[in-house]
Amino acid sequence: MIEAEEQQPCKTDFYSELPKVELHAHLNGSISSHTMKKLIAQKPDLKIHDQMTVIDKGKKRTLEECFQMFQTIHQLTSSPEDILMWKKKKEEAYNLDCYEFTKVTKDVIKEFADDGVKYLELRSTPRRENATGMTKKTYVESILEGIKQSKQENLDIDVRYLIAVDRRGGPLVAKETVKLAEEFFLSTEGTVLGLDLSGDPTVGQAKDFLEPLLEAKKAGLKLALHLSEIPNQKKETQILLDLLPDRIGHGTFLNSGEGGSLDLVDFVRQHRIPLELCLTSNVKSQTVPSYDQHHFGFWYSIAHPSVICTDDKGVFATHLSQEYQLAAETFNLTQSQVWDLSYESINYIFASDSTRSELRKKWNHLKPRVLHI
Ligand SMILES: [Zn+2]
Repeated sequence: MIEAEEQQPCKTDFYSELPKVELHAHLNGSISSHTMKKLIAQKPDLKIHDQMTVIDKGKKRTLEECFQMFQTIHQLTSSPEDILMWKKKKEEAYNLDCYEFTKVTKDVIKEFADDGVKYLELRSTPRRENATGMTKKTYVESILEGIKQSKQENLDIDVRYLIAVDRRGGPLVAKETVKLAEEFFLSTEGTVLGLDLSGDPTVGQAKDFLEPLLEAKKAGLKLALHLSEIPNQKKETQILLDLLPDRIGHGTFLNSGEGGSLDLVDFVRQHRIPLELCLTSNVKSQTVPSYDQHHFGFWYSIAHPSVICTDDKGVFATHLSQEYQLAAETFNLTQSQVWDLSYESINYIFASDSTRSELRKKWNHLKPRVLHI
């Protein structure tokens, strides 16, 4: 009982009821411990236990350990143990994999909706699994199917998908991914909206990805780039900023003495590039020493567009409402300031103006009830 209480953050109604926009959520990292338990039970041979996929309250890991956790999660969502089945019943194993992926996507969407998220941009790197026959294309399709099915269930949440480029794959894979993203951008009528650059920031160099990222931009895809996640990457950061990304993921060291600079801050300010900020993720992966030292404080104090996000709500055992509460309690924000933060985040979504106005209507409708005015 005590343990359950410790792990269950005390959430007040205000933060849950607050309508929210989630713009930085990796699908695999967002899988909740509940769904993860189901996946683990289905794959006993992998010998994975809960603690390998989630960082509980008060615990921390290094960024490197976090990336190892993501690999473990990939194992769980790629069904390698289906190889036998694959040999016997190729078709069935293939379907199972995609079917499973659709289910995981639906679970994640439902959890965001239950947490009061009204608009969600999920991101995920297309993966090929030779063992099951899943191709990058069917991977994307199974996520889109999850989004479609959630829509049919009338959940009060609008979901979009950003196709992710993992730095580990290198520039050639990035080019392939951009091509795939372009195809889906043209065929999904606004569900696939953009491209994310993510993965271990110590792997590869920004300049290797310039060509595919430029190509994506030219094709009309929006760019959300993870940058300045680790110290001493000033040159690397400037190269990515020169692309004028539509949003920045983390930007942890932009304003710090270690690898940041006034020039970088000025550039980001001048171009009003919104930042996706994930407090728990940065503290638990130890790129930020404590909540009160989180760079949200800096960017908020200069009124720069900042959006509170979860990054990987499953791995970091958090929810978007909890992140808002953390930001508010750490930086002494009033409920009305928290409301504004959430309302303004609508400005930075990748969907069209008409979606923005619909969301604003929804927020205005809910405002009296949430703020008790
Ligand atoms: Zn991220």
